[in-house]
Amino acid sequence: MFKKPKRKVHRVFIHCSASDRPEHDNIETIRQWHLARGFSDVGYHYFIRKDGTLQMGRSLEKIPAAQKGHNRHTIAICLHGLKIEKFTDAQKKTLLELCRTIDAAYDSISFHGHCEVSAKACPVIDYRTVLDLDMYGSLGRKTDALENITQKRPEALPELRLGSRGEAVAYLQQLLFIRTDGIFGPQTSRAVKAFKKAHDLYPSDIVKSYVWRLLMENETHSP
Ligand SMILES: [Zn+2]
Repeated sequence: MFKKPKRKVHRVFIHCSASDRPEHDNIETIRQWHLARGFSDVGYHYFIRKDGTLQMGRSLEKIPAAQKGHNRHTIAICLHGLKIEKFTDAQKKTLLELCRTIDAAYDSISFHGHCEVSAKACPVIDYRTVLDLDMYGSLGRKTDALENITQKRPEALPELRLGSRGEAVAYLQQLLFIRTDGIFGPQTSRAVKAFKKAHDLYPSDIVKSYVWRLLMENETHSP
């Protein structure tokens, strides 16, 4: 179903085919549409039929032609459908399984709807609920991360590093008193290194449970 491509991938985009017609419910039709538009092949890597069948589109080694201006470092998945009530549970199940498989292959990857980078309604379905995304597009971690943060269990918080995203990163940034955007970038990296150095730890930017514990203690003790 999924073999990690050699090219870099940071984001996965979800699309819909903008049709509910049964004769369009296959990758071949979409391929013909895209060829007619002058693409070299179908723009998506995956197509999910109404019955939940997963079909392969263009090679994962190729950049998709799916989100104008935002194709590099992405994977594109299309579900057959247009009206929100016409998408099936079988499709959502396949989407979730596929996204979980992709997520497991990467340290840091986020999931998005086409609508996040265009004025379109695509993919129409509530992909955030289906995939249990947090506000940064991290998959299926919203509930866990928030719960572990609320309960202040450093041992249960995820290991973070440059490139990590999500609620846990936002919490880390709060603890470091830096800008909270949920993305572990160079500024967060510098702040983590400085914090570790100040606590006589090897100043790498990897945040493991002992670093979480120190950060939380630090929070409790500060005025
Ligand atoms: Zn789209």
